[in-house]
Amino acid sequence: MKVIELLKSDRPTLSFEVFPPKTQDKFENVIGAAYKIGHLGPDFMSVTYGAGGGRSRYTVEMVDQLQSELGIPVLSHLTCVSSTREQIRETLDQLKEKKIENILALRGDIPESGGIFEYRHAADLIDEIHQNGDFCIGAACYPEGHPESADKNEDLKYLKEKVDAGVDFLTTQMFFQNELFYRFLYRIREIGIQVPVCAGIMPVTSSRQLSRIGGMSGAFMPQNFIAMVDRFGGSADAMKQAGIQYAAQQIIDLLANGVKHIHVYTMNRPDIAAAILENLSEIWKYEISRSTQ
Ligand code: FAD
Repeated sequence: MKVIELLKSDRPTLSFEVFPPKTQDKFENVIGAAYKIGHLGPDFMSVTYGAGGGRSRYTVEMVDQLQSELGIPVLSHLTCVSSTREQIRETLDQLKEKKIENILALRGDIPESGGIFEYRHAADLIDEIHQNGDFCIGAACYPEGHPESADKNEDLKYLKEKVDAGVDFLTTQMFFQNELFYRFLYRIREIGIQVPVCAGIMPVTSSRQLSRIGGMSGAFMPQNFIAMVDRFGGSADAMKQAGIQYAAQQIIDLLANGVKHIHVYTMNRPDIAAAILENLSEIWKYEISRSTQ
C-alpha cells in the first residue's frame, strides 16, 4: 500500500522511524527492536538510509523484513549524494523486486570527503525515481530552513521546485517549538505546496543526544526545553521521563491545532515509543473517532 493513500484519508496517522545497523553483527538486535516498535501499531514506519551522506547496506533488507512481519507500509529512505546513477537504479530495482512502494527521496548530507554528485539535489533523485517505477515518493522539509540555505525564502523556493518534481508528501525535520511548524505550514500553503506534511517529533531523552541534535539539525531550542535539559539532564531516568512528556505535549498541541500526521523519530527505542503512546492513548482514540464521524 502506498503511504499517500493513508495520508489522504480522513484518519490521523502516526508513523515511527528506525535506523539500520552499520554492521551485519548488529542486524538481529536492530531488527528485533524495530519489530517491537512496529508491534505498537503505527500506521506506517520508515527506515533511514546511511548517515552523513554515506550509503546503506541494510535499509532495503530491513524495510523488506518489517513489511513482511508487520503488514503495514514501510518507507525506504534513499539518499543520492554518494551514489552513481547505476547504483541508484540497482537500488530501485531491488525495491521493485521486494514490492516496496514507498521511498523518502533525499540528497543526503555532503560527506567531508566529497560526494559523487551525479545527482546534485533531491529533486534530481525524484526525477530518476519517476523514470524507474511507480513509487509513492516523500521528501524532507525544514520548518527552520535547511542549514545550507542562505535564508528561508530561498529554501522554500527550492522546496516548491522539489514538490513540483513529483513529491506525494513531506516529512519535516525535528522541531522543538510548534509555532515554527505552524508558521512553516502557513508559508508553504501560501506558495502553493498542497501535499500532506508529517510533523517530525524527536523525543530527547538524554542530555548526550542534545549536542548531536543541535549540530545535526540546527534546531532552535526554546527556553522551556533548555530549562528541562538543564534541570533533569543529570539524571538518566528523570531526563527520559521529561523528554517523553515534552514530545507527548508537542504532539497533543499539534493534534489540538488540527495537524493530522505525526512522525516520531523513535531512535530504535521501543520503550520510548511505547511511553509516548501511553501518554496519548485516550487522545489518539478520540482523534480516530472524530475522524470517522
Ligand atoms: P535537498 O532537497 O536537495 O536540499 C538540500 C539543500 O539544497 C537545501 O539547502 C536546498 O534549499 C538546496 N537546494 C535544493 N535544490 C536546489 C537547487 N536546484 N539549486 C540550489 N540549491 C538547491 N539523511 C541521511 O543520510 N539518511 C536519511 O535517511 C535521512 N533521512 C531524513 C529524513 C528527514 C525527514 C529529514 C528532514 C532529513 C533526513 N536526512 C537523512 C538528512 C538529509 O539528507 C539532509 O538534511 C540533507 O542535507 C538534505 O537533504 P534533502 O533531501 O533535504 O536535500
